[in-house]
Amino acid sequence: MNKKQKTMLIRIVITSIFLASLSLINFENNILRFCLYMALYLIIGYDIIKKSLHGIINFRPFDENLLMMTATLGAIGLGLYNETKGQQGDFNEAIAVMLFYQVGEFFQKLAINKSRKNIASLMDIRPDYANIEKDNEIIKVDPSNLEIGSIIIVAPGEKIPIDGIIIEGNSSLNESALTGESKPRTIKKDDEVYSGSINLNGLIKIKTIKSFGESTASKIIELVENASNKKSKSENFISKFAKIYTPIVVFCALALVIIPPLFIKIILHNDVNFSQWIYRALTFLVISCPCALIISIPLSFFSGIGCASSKGILIKGSNYIENLSKLTSVVFDKTGTLTKGVFELVAIHHNKIDENKLLEYVLLAESASSHPIAISIRNFYKKELNKLRISNIEEISGQGVIAKIDELEVIVGNEQLMKNHNIEPILCHSVGTIVHIAINGEYMGHIVISDVIKEQSYKAIENLKKLNIKNIIMLTGDIEKVAKNVADELKIDKYYSNLLPNQKIEKIESLMEDKTENKTKNKKNILAFVGDGINDAPSISRADIGIAMGSIGTDAALEAADVVLMDDNPIKVATAVEISKKCLKIVKENIIFAIGIKLICLILGAIGIANMWLAIFADVGVMILCIINSFRVLLFKSRFN
Ligand code: ADP
Ligand code: MG
Repeated sequence: MNKKQKTMLIRIVITSIFLASLSLINFENNILRFCLYMALYLIIGYDIIKKSLHGIINFRPFDENLLMMTATLGAIGLGLYNETKGQQGDFNEAIAVMLFYQVGEFFQKLAINKSRKNIASLMDIRPDYANIEKDNEIIKVDPSNLEIGSIIIVAPGEKIPIDGIIIEGNSSLNESALTGESKPRTIKKDDEVYSGSINLNGLIKIKTIKSFGESTASKIIELVENASNKKSKSENFISKFAKIYTPIVVFCALALVIIPPLFIKIILHNDVNFSQWIYRALTFLVISCPCALIISIPLSFFSGIGCASSKGILIKGSNYIENLSKLTSVVFDKTGTLTKGVFELVAIHHNKIDENKLLEYVLLAESASSHPIAISIRNFYKKELNKLRISNIEEISGQGVIAKIDELEVIVGNEQLMKNHNIEPILCHSVGTIVHIAINGEYMGHIVISDVIKEQSYKAIENLKKLNIKNIIMLTGDIEKVAKNVADELKIDKYYSNLLPNQKIEKIESLMEDKTENKTKNKKNILAFVGDGINDAPSISRADIGIAMGSIGTDAALEAADVVLMDDNPIKVATAVEISKKCLKIVKENIIFAIGIKLICLILGAIGIANMWLAIFADVGVMILCIINSFRVLLFKSRFN
């Protein structure tokens, strides 16, 4: 409980005690009595009044705060009106309504805080200690005190506390808390490991490469815990709801004060008891306050976020759940997303230069790039080379690299990059991604490499189609031939090739504007972009929903994305959509149920059968049922396995 919640609890307790005692006292002085009640009213309700006045000043009056303020002030007004007639006015109701509302708010905040913590602990990744060796002894230390480059020891069964590189030992890791993937990963010397994973069998020594706070587990916990604070692109579901609902209710209440009395007076020619109709209108206002909804909606979204994170899907805010459930287009990047991004060498074609020498230049030029092509080249041609031969490297995103090696200008990349430097490449008939090489302006040859489609990509596309997502599109910077091959294989109907990173963004923008596909239904086109986070972070942040995958360890993607798939599995896109749909379904159920009960109470209130107390009890009951219903999201099971 934080400080704000503690003060709230104190206010609630004080109000309850004094409200009960005031009704026991027999007051002689009505003014003193009124003042005491008003003091209690202010103690419990001052923040609601402040918020609703704030809303009025900013021309956004219609929210739940206004409802509460008008209803309770009205009830006080009625009490005063009765006093003028010589009766003792009833102020209990106004304070009790405020009190119940605040109790509801209090539990809502408590529940949200708790579910936020639950999500993090559900993932069970927060490391508590690290082992280090000191004077031939192993001691436990607080991982946040360790510097980068420290050597830590992780025994079987222990959690890895900080990201690092293995310097000694073999083992396998359970990374399911990070990726949702239950199959252990075998690790050996020089492999990178991430905090939050569990060491399964061997003793390993790790040299840390990040601080504790920058390590994967801490980052994930931070993201999940902040998920609710991020309300960026789309408006928060409840405010949207309150904007429609509140004015309707306020005008209905006004109508209740005006229309029936006029009807009685003018048509029936009877006397009208105005205070009775005002009382009914005020009861109507209080009954209509959507406490159950206000509490259960965020809880449903939180359950959705929690459920997704237990499956290795991090959703960074409830607004993305709403958007995911209405997704109409999914755009995939090719390399590293639908394909493994691990290239195999198919052929080397050259004539002017010795093969080894050519590969040496390619290797040196690619030595600093994080592109899958560069990583693969370094992997299939392992050779220690003197990096001092390189004097400059420039990476042209989506095209290749230009480097100065041995004082020669070495250009390594695609056809477009060659043409941009007035070099005529020799075209190749092998199917695959072609990496052309030119040295000092002279074409030297190319290597043909080929990427493999991930086994899960087939199902990923199939499942999305089954979820009724009609537009599935692939974008790539690779050549047409390769793009067509992959698209045909995966049954993707639309693809665009030869795109530079900025052209990918333009394509995404034009696809987002393209509403023709949905014109008949007049629905908004909501587009998700799925990329691997290497050179496509701009597209990820431009799309309605940016999804980064396989990005444990790449911070840029973690930050740019709205949804992060912790493993390389594209099927999770469909899973995220499924969870979101289930979540929204439960939200809708709650809305219909709560509003249904509300309507009954409202009608009873309008005809004078129900009073504020009944309304409050109905609301608490509805609230509990809605909350229980919200937790059903956690029981989610995919229909595809
Ligand atoms: P994708 O859209 O398939 O993810 P990229 O935008 O990452 O592709 O790259 C597009 C093309 O640019 C690649 O197919 C490759 O031909 C070329 N390219 C990009 N980076 C490099 C690099 N480091 N070395 C060689 N070629 C590269
Ligand atoms: Mg890419």
